[in-house]
Amino acid sequence: MDLDTPVNYVKGVGPQRAELLQAKGVETAGDLLFYTPFRYEDRTNVKPLDGLAPGEMATVIAEVHSVHQPRFQRRNLGLFEAVFTDGSRRRLAVKWFHGQYLAKALAPGVRVSLYGKVEFDTYRGELSMTHPEVEVLREEEEEEAGLHTGRIVPVYEAASKISGRMFRNILKRLTDAMPRVDDPLPEEIRQRLKLPDLRTAIREVHFPAAGTDIRLLNAFRSPSQFRMIFDEFFWLEVGMGLRRSQAKAEPGIAFELGDRVREKVKAMLPFKPTAAQKRVLGEIAADMKEPRPMNRLLQGDVGSGKTLVAAQAAVIAIENGYQVALLAPTEILATQHYITLKKLFAPIGYVVTPLVGSMTKKEKEGIKKLLAAGLSPIVVGTHALIEEDVAFEKLGLAIIDEQHRFGVLQRRALAQKGVTPDVLVMTATPIPRTLALTVYGDLDTSLIDELPPGRKPIKTIHKTALEVEQVYSFVKREVDGGRQAYIVYPVIEETETKDLKAAVLAYEELSRDVFPTLKVGLLHGRLKADEKEGVMDAFKRGEVQVLVTTTVIEVGVDVPNASVMVIEHAERFGLAQIHQLRGRVGRGAAQSYCVLVTEKLGETGRERIRTLVESSDGFHIAEMDLKLRGPGEFLGTRQSGLPAFRIGNLLRDQEVLELARSEAVGFVQHPPSERSLEGALAYVRDHWQRKYGLALVG
Ligand code: ADP
Ligand code: MG
Repeated sequence: MDLDTPVNYVKGVGPQRAELLQAKGVETAGDLLFYTPFRYEDRTNVKPLDGLAPGEMATVIAEVHSVHQPRFQRRNLGLFEAVFTDGSRRRLAVKWFHGQYLAKALAPGVRVSLYGKVEFDTYRGELSMTHPEVEVLREEEEEEAGLHTGRIVPVYEAASKISGRMFRNILKRLTDAMPRVDDPLPEEIRQRLKLPDLRTAIREVHFPAAGTDIRLLNAFRSPSQFRMIFDEFFWLEVGMGLRRSQAKAEPGIAFELGDRVREKVKAMLPFKPTAAQKRVLGEIAADMKEPRPMNRLLQGDVGSGKTLVAAQAAVIAIENGYQVALLAPTEILATQHYITLKKLFAPIGYVVTPLVGSMTKKEKEGIKKLLAAGLSPIVVGTHALIEEDVAFEKLGLAIIDEQHRFGVLQRRALAQKGVTPDVLVMTATPIPRTLALTVYGDLDTSLIDELPPGRKPIKTIHKTALEVEQVYSFVKREVDGGRQAYIVYPVIEETETKDLKAAVLAYEELSRDVFPTLKVGLLHGRLKADEKEGVMDAFKRGEVQVLVTTTVIEVGVDVPNASVMVIEHAERFGLAQIHQLRGRVGRGAAQSYCVLVTEKLGETGRERIRTLVESSDGFHIAEMDLKLRGPGEFLGTRQSGLPAFRIGNLLRDQEVLELARSEAVGFVQHPPSERSLEGALAYVRDHWQRKYGLALVG
C-alpha cells in the first residue's frame, strides 16, 4: 500500500464509507492521511475514582456497577444512567442524554474508560460526569487504555455520515500499518529547517507521542504539524515558481521604448501622474522591454489611478505595432473602460473598439474581422473576448481588470490568443499579502500606494434603519445643491430574484414617495445592455439625480459629480466590497459622503462597520475582512482560484507560507540538480495540482 492506494482498500473503509469519502475529495490513502485533526484533547490524566477532584478533566478506568433507564421522563431525553466502581472507595454516577444505545454495551461488569469533566452531584453527594466519552475496553486493549481516552486524543471533523470517532479508528489502523511514504522534500531543506521526515510527521500529527505539548498541538505548531503545513505551501509555491520560470522561458515581445514612444505616452496624459504611477509605469515598461512575456499584477486602492497606468502601457504596445485587449469582469465595466479609454486616446488618435456579449451577431462578426486583420489597435470587452473564437492579428498586451473574478485558467486562455502577449492584471481590491502569494504567486507585482492629489477623504457615517428618513432628507439636500447620489441595495448575486425584487420595489417607493420631485433611475445587472447604457448615460449627464442600484456599480463607474452613496443593508456586504463601492464617490471636488444603513448589529457586525467608518485604507480593510470572514468568503471561493488547503490555514500560518515561499523560490532558481527539479515538477503535477484545481505547470 502507498499513498495513491484508493481509500476503499484502507482497512475499516467499506464501499459505503469509501463513497462518502470520495464525495468529500478523499480518494486515496494519502488524502486520508492528510485529513488531519483540527483539535487535540489531553486525556492522559488517568485517575482512580478516589483521586478525582471536581472541575478537572480526567480519564477513569472503571467497571459498570449498575445501570438505570428512567422509564418516565419529563421530556423525552432518552436518559441513560450508570454507576461505576474501580475498587477504590468512591463511585461515579454518569448520565448520558439520548444514551439508550449504550444499554446494550454497558452491562454490569463491563470495563470501560471514560473521559469527561468531573462534577460533584450535591443532591446525591456523589461524584458524577455528564456525557463523557466512553470506550468499552477489551482485555487486550486495557494495557494501552484504549484509543479514545488515556492519551492525547486527536479530534477530527465529521464528514457527512462518518463521525469524528470513526475517522479516529480508521486513521489509527492506517497509521499503525503505515503505507509507504516517499518524501520528496529536498533533503537539504529538510535538514536545514530541522523538519521531521514525512512519514514520522504524518503519524505524529494523527497520534502525537505521549508528552507532546498540547498547547503546541492546538496552535498547530508541533514540529510534525509544521512540517505538513510547510509541505502544502512549499509545493504550491514550487508550482507557482515553476510556472513563473516556464512563462519567462517562453519567447516574448521585446517592445522598444524610443523617444517617439515616450513622447506619445506623455501626449496622452490628461494630468501629471503621481510619483507612484510613474514608478509603477517604470516597472511595467522594464518588463515590456525584455524579450520575455510580462506577467504582472498591478495593485492599487480604488481611485489610485490604475487605468491611467494601463493606458500608458497600451500606448507602448500600440506604438510598437501591436494590438491591445482590455478585459473587464462585467459588461458595465467594459463599457466604462471603453468610454474612459476613448477619452484618453482621443488626443493621440487611437480608435477604441468595444466587443461585448450583448452585441448582435453581425456587429460582433464585423469587429472580429477588424481584429483578425489587425485594423483595430485596442479592443475592450468582457469574458466574451476569450470565450468566443476571437483571433488577433498581433496581440501584444492583454490588460485584465480582474476584481477577483477571473481565475488562473482564463488568464492562460487569453495568453494563448497571441504569440505570448504581455499580461497585466489589475486588481481593484488590495489583497492581503498571504492571499496574493497563493492566488497570484506566479505574477510579479506592482503597487500604486498613493492617491491622486486633491482628494477629499470620503466621510463615512453609520445610521440604523430607524434613522433612514434623516438619511433621505440629507440626500435630498445634497441633490438640491446640485450633486448626485447612489442608493445601493444588496443584490450580491444578480441571480437572486428575491433581492432584486426588493431593490426594484425600493426604487418604486423612492421615486414615488420619498423623492417625488427628483429624477430617480434604476440600474441592475439584469437590465438589457442598451437599457443599462441608457441609464448610465443619463446619470452621467446629470439627467438622473438619484441612481438606485446594486453592486453592478462596484467598480469602474466614474461620475465625479456624484457625492453621496447610501448603502442599504450594509451588514450584508463584505467590507472590501463596501470599500470598493464607496470608491464611486469622492471623485470630484465636493466633499463626499458614504452612509451605511444597517439593521440591528451583532458584535462582529459592529466591528465591521466601525472598521469602515474609521479607515479608508484599502489594505487595512482587506486584512480585517479576511480576518472576519475567512479567505474563501473574502475572495468568493469558487471563482477565486484559491486552493483549498488541507492542513495549512492562510490566517493562522502566514509565517509558514512566507518561509515556504522563500524556500520554494530558492529551490526553483537554484535546484540542487536538474533531476531534482524534474522530480519536483512531476510531484507537483501528480500530487498537488489536481487537489488545488489549478493549472500550475504545463
Ligand atoms: P482605479 O481604477 O485605480 O480605481 P481610476 O483609474 O479610475 O482609479 O482613477 C480614479 C480617478 O482619478 C479618475 O477619475 C482618474 O481620471 C483620476 N486620476 C487618475 N490619475 C490621476 C492623476 N495623476 N492626477 C489626477 N487625477 C487622476
Ligand atoms: Mg479603474
